[in-house]
Amino acid sequence: PSMNRRQRVSVLGSTGSIGVNTLDVLARHPERYEVFALSAMSRVDALLAQCLQHRPRYAVLPDQALAAELRGKLREQGARTEVLDGPDALSEIAAHPEVDAVMAAIVGAAGLAPCLAAARAGKRLLLANKEAIVVGGALFMQAVEQGGATLLPIDSEHSAIFQCLPEDRKTWHQRIDHIVLTASGGPFRTREPGTLAEVTPEQACAHPNWVMGRKISVDSATMMNKALEVIEARWLFNLTPEQIKVIIHPQSIIHSMVVCRDNSVLAQLGTPDMRVPIAYGLAFPERVESGASRLDLLSTPGLSFEEADARRFPGLHLSWAALRAREGSTAVLNAANEEAVAAFLDGGLRFDHIHRVNAEALAQLLPAADECASVAGLLALDARARRHAQGLIKALRAS
Ligand code: NAD
Ligand code: MG
Repeated sequence: PSMNRRQRVSVLGSTGSIGVNTLDVLARHPERYEVFALSAMSRVDALLAQCLQHRPRYAVLPDQALAAELRGKLREQGARTEVLDGPDALSEIAAHPEVDAVMAAIVGAAGLAPCLAAARAGKRLLLANKEAIVVGGALFMQAVEQGGATLLPIDSEHSAIFQCLPEDRKTWHQRIDHIVLTASGGPFRTREPGTLAEVTPEQACAHPNWVMGRKISVDSATMMNKALEVIEARWLFNLTPEQIKVIIHPQSIIHSMVVCRDNSVLAQLGTPDMRVPIAYGLAFPERVESGASRLDLLSTPGLSFEEADARRFPGLHLSWAALRAREGSTAVLNAANEEAVAAFLDGGLRFDHIHRVNAEALAQLLPAADECASVAGLLALDARARRHAQGLIKALRAS
């Protein structure tokens, strides 16, 4: 795309935490970017307000009745945004020929199809939606390569690694010994593991350093978020499971590190603000103002590091197990976790049972080779794993 016109951006999941931060960064640079499309799942009025402010060509609400409601409200305001609904609308705004960049900020495997559509259409794909790459695996990376897409990580850890590496990815393998993903440890880093059974959704969602959506907040409390990030890193940087390490760093100042073959360690630092990786993804290889406050090292408390305790965070270790198991196992782990977290948030599953569901689903449900060969196969595997997890959840609830 020509650099002398504004870049057109579709934001999938625009009403969420990452979506709102993305719109904040875009609005700081009206000369560089215009919002082409927005999307949400259910919050019609929030999406309406975004449409009135950013005037996108399209807005997507998958549900027909909600889409009709938004259409009516937009008409009342005299806004010209066209509302799309139905199962393919997200892929349409992700792959639209006039779109330059797609922010994938939907939560869960529901984002896989539109991510693949953007990848195949050769877009700049800004990936926050880690579940999509965890489910998509090799197929996801093939779509990026074949479509000629530019895949840029938005997850702060992966953005940090990416920022530490040179632009020419052909040199990465030769340089990297391993990477170290930092983890804050979440709200229960120092809580007695034996008391985790009583944790409520509100406690689990109260993250010390980041304000995020509810699903990723629970994942941060169980460390399944870091487990998903280990899997995400495997694909983004083409690493073996052994080349990915995790360390607890409660202050969330160092966002991750690359340990080079010569033992030089490269790190990226900053205040914990998702607008930094978002701005980097949008402007790469340039840099633009993000709105984040600057890191003041003199008023920063000491940086500390701890080992990720396997007894406290058993979920973390499922990532390496899933990567070493048969292909498709990472999709099974993700599906089980999505179901378990939803059940926990609904009050239907104990916090410490999330790990039981994930571990048992991973051990019991074996993916078939043909399930990993196509998107349809992966989505069928995802559905199969969700049903299996539902059975486990029911049994735990009855016990
Ligand atoms: P969120 O719950 O705040 O927002 C999710 C957005 O997706 C909302 O706009 C919602 O309407 C939409 N959505 C949800 N389910 C959908 C579905 N089935 N179909 C279509 N749209 C749907 O979540 P978030 O915290 O913004 O996280 C979004 C993604 O980014 C997640 O994959 C998360 O792991 C990742 N991420 C978030 C952060 C963060 O700081 N919030 C950091 C790193 C990575
Ligand atoms: Mg992260």
